[in-house]
Amino acid sequence: MNAALLDPVRVRLHSDLEEMLDDEVKAADPADEFVPVAFEQEFADLAVPLADGASMTFRGKIDRIDTTSGSRRVRVIDYKTGKHFWKAEEQFKGGTELQLAIYNQAARVAYPDHEVAEAVYYYSTAAGDYKRKVCAATPEVEETLRSVLVTLDGLAAAGVFPPVADNCRFCDFQTLCGPFRENRALRKSADPRLASFKRLREIL
Ligand code: SF4
Repeated sequence: MNAALLDPVRVRLHSDLEEMLDDEVKAADPADEFVPVAFEQEFADLAVPLADGASMTFRGKIDRIDTTSGSRRVRVIDYKTGKHFWKAEEQFKGGTELQLAIYNQAARVAYPDHEVAEAVYYYSTAAGDYKRKVCAATPEVEETLRSVLVTLDGLAAAGVFPPVADNCRFCDFQTLCGPFRENRALRKSADPRLASFKRLREIL
């Protein structure tokens, strides 16, 4: 490829990397004792219990895992290269953001003799301003994850796949959905079968 095209990309990557390393140093808290112990760690057949013995199974790959040796704690770091798009009070974004809560579950299974502290998105480029989004591994987060999955499972089992057209700009399926999708979503919004889905969308 033309060097004139590649050079700006190289410069940006170098700059992001240097700033990320600076940020990691600044953010390192000597008191927390966390040390990276694994990268690109895969998990499979992670069963998250729903209700009545049912479960939903996940697989994935975790960018980085840190542990402490003394207090035996574990945390997950997931690197992001896009923009940080979180409000402080948000965690699940209407049931669309489950990854961090699921990572906490994966860490629990992978490190059964450790206490899971948190899973973190680290926006590790200038685009994301080197910000972090933390999902603490609390019983409340675990319960909310379970209730979101129960709702999604119930909707799928009932054959209800609600149209949502409030964030189409970055979606890969705009051609498939075609024009007037907002109108179609609006028309269906009063359908009583969408009650549980609407409650889901209110979860921050
Ligand atoms: S284009 Fe279709 S699938 Fe994508 S967000 Fe919009 S409504 Fe949903």
